[in-house]
Amino acid sequence: MSVVSIKPKTSSKKGTKEEKIYDAIIIGGGPAGLTAGIYLSRARMSTLLIEKALPGGQAILTEIIENYPGFPHGIAGPELMQKIEEQAVRFGLKIEYGEVAEVKIKVDKEDKVKIVKINNQEYKTLTIILASGAEASKLEVPGEEELRGRGVSYCATCDAPFFKDQKIVVVGGGDTAIEEALYLTKFAQEVTIIHRRDRLRATKILQERVFSNKKINFAWDSVVTKILGKEKVEGVLIQNKKTGEEKVISCQGVFVFVGNIPNSKFLNELIKLDKKGYILTDDNMMTSQEGIYACGDVRKKILRQVVTACGEGATAAFAAQKYIEELKGVSYK
Ligand code: NAP
Repeated sequence: MSVVSIKPKTSSKKGTKEEKIYDAIIIGGGPAGLTAGIYLSRARMSTLLIEKALPGGQAILTEIIENYPGFPHGIAGPELMQKIEEQAVRFGLKIEYGEVAEVKIKVDKEDKVKIVKINNQEYKTLTIILASGAEASKLEVPGEEELRGRGVSYCATCDAPFFKDQKIVVVGGGDTAIEEALYLTKFAQEVTIIHRRDRLRATKILQERVFSNKKINFAWDSVVTKILGKEKVEGVLIQNKKTGEEKVISCQGVFVFVGNIPNSKFLNELIKLDKKGYILTDDNMMTSQEGIYACGDVRKKILRQVVTACGEGATAAFAAQKYIEELKGVSYK
């Protein structure tokens, strides 16, 4: 890394008012971004976190998180995230709301300033921590878009009470699908899990629970080819991948949990991504651009959990802090 000794608190152009240059801007307020916020605020770095909706990320859509250490009986997703946010704000983290449209690097200067653009407003910063997470993938079948919100859902915690005593199908075989299917049984009369293989991807403890739940049955080796209904969902057309056989399952709800897509489009080729759009980093969470870090679900990695997101957020923040201190010529060696 090249070292430029500067003290960049504010910058000014002729005739314009002084502009603040943050030490760090964190994009995304899930567990990774908020944890980075805790560490940077405690390091007394001037830090702004930008969140497009509610802080907490996808974890706030989780009824109960059972594998976050320290909570032997689990903790509700929204409660855990609210506590992490409170902790970050207590140490001085500033949060602003808006959707980031673009991230740029100022090319004409040696001062390493990066620019984060939200609508028409530009924020300047020495480092960026990308913690923009991921969002639910779609099935991309006929009827899905048309019946979204009319029986098609991507969030059991949000919509389950609308399906009291009704028949529901859940699509997918990962941790999310199985956890959400189990949650849905508290409301629904019957839940059918439609999975494209003959076994589940989900963690074994979730498999044990789902196989012993009498309200849940399975359509194995099957894919949904169409969601049926005019005003609201009336059923799904499924096809067995091994036999080619088609059949209709009548239901009032279709819950889709077929993985996630990373929120990285706004980066516009600024940094290196893998084929699926996940951000590539080194061990210290640095991306292909000096001074830009990534953590949490938007990053390419093997395990997507709240606990890994928090760990990566802490690492990214610490690496960013070292980078900033070196830029300012104040590093403690
Ligand atoms: P995931 O692990 O990627 O699983 C997605 C599931 O959907 C897979 O079973 C996949 O089938 C299936 N699928 C993908 N595309 C499909 C399509 N077009 N049609 C039909 N089925 C399709 O996603 P996830 O369950 O949302 O989990 C994401 C990450 O979060 C994982 O790392 C997971 O471990 C983590 N997570 C953890 C917890 C927890 O620890 N309690 C809870 C939720 C999520 P294949 O199996 O054939 O690929």
